[in-house]
Amino acid sequence: MPCDADVIIIGGGLAGLVAGIHLSQKNFRVILIEKQSYPHHKVCGEYVSNEVLPYLDQLRVSVDTLNPSRINRFQLSTASGKSVESKLPLGGFGVSRYRLDDLLYQKAVLSGVQTIQNQAEAVQFHDNQFTVATTGGQTYTAKLVIGAYGKRSILDKQLNRPFIQQASPWLGVKAHYRADIPNDQVSLHNFEGGYCGLSQVEDGIVNACYLAHYNSFKQYKNVAEFQERVLRKNPFLNRFFASATPLFDKPLVISQISFSKKQPVENHVLMSGDTAGLIHPLCGNGMAMAIHSAKILSELIETHYQPHAFDRATLEKQYTLAWTNEFNKRLTAGRALQYVLQSPLATSLVMQGVQLTPGILPLIIKQTHGNPLVAA
Ligand SMILES: Cc1cc2nc3c(=O)[nH]c(=O)nc-3n(C[C@H](O)[C@H](O)[C@H](O)COP(=O)(O)OP(=O)(O)OC[C@H]3O[C@@H](n4cnc5c(N)ncnc54)[C@H](O)[C@@H]3O)c2cc1C
Repeated sequence: MPCDADVIIIGGGLAGLVAGIHLSQKNFRVILIEKQSYPHHKVCGEYVSNEVLPYLDQLRVSVDTLNPSRINRFQLSTASGKSVESKLPLGGFGVSRYRLDDLLYQKAVLSGVQTIQNQAEAVQFHDNQFTVATTGGQTYTAKLVIGAYGKRSILDKQLNRPFIQQASPWLGVKAHYRADIPNDQVSLHNFEGGYCGLSQVEDGIVNACYLAHYNSFKQYKNVAEFQERVLRKNPFLNRFFASATPLFDKPLVISQISFSKKQPVENHVLMSGDTAGLIHPLCGNGMAMAIHSAKILSELIETHYQPHAFDRATLEKQYTLAWTNEFNKRLTAGRALQYVLQSPLATSLVMQGVQLTPGILPLIIKQTHGNPLVAA
């Protein structure tokens, strides 16, 4: 029986949508399964590194149409309010996931991706082809499946991935505000048990997004009390929350955010974006990594895939190698920075070092970022 598509992509966030656009522009038959409708908000700091812009241009995706903020400065503060500032080596832009994912979705549809709004609940690999079943009761077949379903999903349980067996203590909270903050700066403010990013997205809207350890959070009744009693001890966050006007009825909250190691290929499913590995959000590089991994994977599929006969083992090996070479160093640097930020003493020492030698901060930031995805 002929397959329904060449490639089925599970998850229509940045990694899934970009892979869908790329592959359909190269005449692959692509089915993309996404459980949510567009547009929708997501817990994310919404600062995107400029490294992705040349590749998005190549895909004819213009983020300029979304009126993003242009960001080239970084500020870091300790829980007690000491701060340092730096230029961002490559810079970035601020745009909400509500608008960015929707822009990519519209482009994917125009490029010929067949989109299915449903939850993928099972993936079977049998006789050299995949069958993906949705909760809606449909099944779809293809020679290749890309797992781009984000940080965690029921599919991780089905694939028996090690990280899903352990509880993770991290939770993420995000909301939009009207507030007066510089439109060219992303700032990261520490508090006990976490850190909060502030930056503008499109149309002057401000994103406040934080990662918090459950041990710190659990002593309080709810997000509002936690923000009041813990985040606002940082003078920068106190000033922000005192004057900001919330644009959401209540903040979005996600829990069980795992930074454990994952494999880029599991049971022949090719993983992209957070499904292959999540960098600590303080690096502000997860979205660029999701887009970059989709590019690497799509190009390897272009090189290796033939509908009737292709060397699956080589494709999987090359992707694992390429993913590891490109992202492992960044993930390690992210873990080290997270470790430093969790210790007030270590943070204070780093701040002193940065004050004495300001050039260090851009060098540290570079460790967690890549180069432009398409050479100029
Ligand atoms: C608190 C926090 C702040 C962050 N801030 C930043 C930042 O400022 N800058 C930055 O670059 N990165 C940031 N990140 C990281 C960034 O959000 C992610 O790296 C990025 O969203 C990864 O994109 P993705 O496409 O892999 O996954 P996602 O965007 O999560 O997309 C996955 C999609 O799959 C869908 N899905 C899941 N399961 C199924 C299923 N079974 N069937 C069908 N669909 C499914 C979901 O609905 C979702 O749309 C932050 C992360 C956190 C937690």
